[in-house]
Amino acid sequence: MKDPVCGMTVEPAKAAATSEYQGQTYYFCSAGCKAKFDANPTQYVK
Ligand SMILES: [Zn+2]
Repeated sequence: MKDPVCGMTVEPAKAAATSEYQGQTYYFCSAGCKAKFDANPTQYVK
């Protein structure tokens, strides 16, 4: 899976944080990336 914020490849089992948006689960390399995503998901979801 790809971290939508920084573009890094993240293994779901090792993801530092996850977030659900519009029925999809997104995986993040760090809590910071998740916070950015949660603040403005439309910016990162295509
Ligand atoms: Zn990231």
